[in-house]
Amino acid sequence: MKKFSCGDVVDGCDGVVTGETDDDVMAAAAAHAASAHGMSEVPDDVARAIRAGIVEA
Ligand SMILES: [Zn+2]
Repeated sequence: MKKFSCGDVVDGCDGVVTGETDDDVMAAAAAHAASAHGMSEVPDDVARAIRAGIVEA
């Protein structure tokens, strides 16, 4: 299981997404970014920051 804490990228957000693989977490993070932060698309630099922030859970 992999985990990403949105607060690592977005100050003050307590959202946490999980998935079986990095790609699952990326998809969940994109969905979270859209619903919680109004980001219809995740820019490349944010995607890199998310991928760098994924940890084993
Ligand atoms: Zn968030």
